Amino acid sequence: MSDENCIFCKIVNDEIPSKIVFENSTTIAFLDIHPISEGHTIVIPKNHYKTLENLPDNEINTLFQTVRDVASLIYKRLQVGGYNIVQNNHEAAGQVVNHAHIHIIPRNKGDQRFKAKIPKSQASEEELNNVLEKLKS
Ligand code: 5GP
Ligand code: ZN
Repeated sequence: MSDENCIFCKIVNDEIPSKIVFENSTTIAFLDIHPISEGHTIVIPKNHYKTLENLPDNEINTLFQTVRDVASLIYKRLQVGGYNIVQNNHEAAGQVVNHAHIHIIPRNKGDQRFKAKIPKSQASEEELNNVLEKLKS
């Protein structure tokens, strides 16, 4: 499954060059062309799916195995302090390339180039119950 207009499908099909870190039969990991930090890597399924919800079970399993293995490689070989896993789905969440992908972003203590900001304000009991009802009904 490939989309002829998709930049990541072109990487999979070797139609444009990329710096491949790891590859197996269903997944590929390559260096991001605009790295947030040294070693910033993109992991994708070779098949074209737009977002996380579209991925079948067997492919999501191997995809996250690749994420784990490449993250482990980055952590050990680049000797970084840690890493963030980021996965943008749909335009509202900042997805630019419409081929499901996972960012592995190496981090070091005190670096300022990336921060997942979690607000400190608490939701009320009512707000939590309202959203829970929507999700469970
Ligand atoms: P998104 O915002 O969709 O989650 O991120 C897409 C990522 O793909 C960006 O970080 C961008 O730098 C990267 N990217 C876009 N085009 C290319 C490309 O042609 N080659 C590589 N290696 N990365 C790309
Ligand atoms: Zn694609």
